Amino acid sequence: MSTTTRIPEPIVEGRGGTILGPRNVAVERENPSSLVAPATDAGTVPNLKWPFALSHNRVLSGGWARETTVRELPISTEIAGVNMRLTPGGIRELHWHKEAEWAYVIAGGCRVSILDEEGRLFIDDVSVGDLWYFPAGLPHSIQALQDGVEFLLVFDSGDFSENETFLITDWFNHTPRDVLAKNFGVSASAFDALPTDIGHTRYMFAGDVPPALSDDAPPYPAVQPPLSYTWHMHAQEPTKTPGGQVRITDSRNFTVSKRIAAALVEIEPGGMRELHWHPNADEWQYYLSGQGRMTVFASGGKSRTFDYQAGDVGSVPFAMGHYVQNTGDETLTYLEMFRSDHFADVSLSQWMGVLPPELVKAHLNLDDDVIAGLPRSKPIIVA
Ligand code: MN
Ligand code: MN
Repeated sequence: MSTTTRIPEPIVEGRGGTILGPRNVAVERENPSSLVAPATDAGTVPNLKWPFALSHNRVLSGGWARETTVRELPISTEIAGVNMRLTPGGIRELHWHKEAEWAYVIAGGCRVSILDEEGRLFIDDVSVGDLWYFPAGLPHSIQALQDGVEFLLVFDSGDFSENETFLITDWFNHTPRDVLAKNFGVSASAFDALPTDIGHTRYMFAGDVPPALSDDAPPYPAVQPPLSYTWHMHAQEPTKTPGGQVRITDSRNFTVSKRIAAALVEIEPGGMRELHWHPNADEWQYYLSGQGRMTVFASGGKSRTFDYQAGDVGSVPFAMGHYVQNTGDETLTYLEMFRSDHFADVSLSQWMGVLPPELVKAHLNLDDDVIAGLPRSKPIIVA
């Protein structure tokens, strides 16, 4: 029997036994490290994985949206994410919210706009590998271009929900008509045709593909904000490493992104994101392609291993040690996200490599030549 069709069983090195009762083989196949964890795993560590495939999907005329928040992944209190699709011309209703919004375009393209507090409108088109960042509280729009769009949204609070944003139709429908008439200087009958879709909001709806950006400018002299709210992440020169490459985007290059820092990591087959941790924030991961595994070291003798594949979310609580290993035969690509103005990590091997060798030896009983071979700079991804 080939290993690809074999039913996995929790049996290893003389331990365990076959599963006799009900089971979900598809889920067990995707999570071999849960069915049979490495012998080094120990203790109780919270769940650190959530597949977007298990999130409720809100399916509407203009596309769909599914979210991974603290309700789906309780450990992730600092960051929530939304995976959203808009069909060609599809519109995410004009809105704002209490959280800062960071986005990565996965496929297709869209037009985004944001109004800053000085009344200046920023408008731009983005496509695959581009980002946008909208500070908390500022109103914005998203509309898909001719190919449609899919993107990942990341918010600086695990409590965020796509269902609790401030929608323009919601406000209109919950304001007395005479107040609307007074505010806009028109008769109350001007509002007779306000949409009364489900919940008296539109949220996401079908629309016409907008014209070229040069033809879609506001009909008045636009005053652009001084800083760009979009960024071409894929245009950044990657940092090449023995096992892959990485691009880091935070407020040091994408100036407006004061609350979210990101790394786009590509690990080649056989490669591994080295043992490391982050000294500033929790890590929230989104897996874009390939498959991998991660063990999180939680101190106090606790450690737990998870398997991830494209479309999954991973989480690493603040300061916990971890690695991410490519376990497949294609490039493993994922985003590391942090609620911070800057990306920061600490490399275990670099730390050991710059310490006095005798101090390292006293702890781990490593041979002198092993210690002498430790790196002085971060490997980031080992081959
Ligand atoms: Mn938004
Ligand atoms: Mn990390």
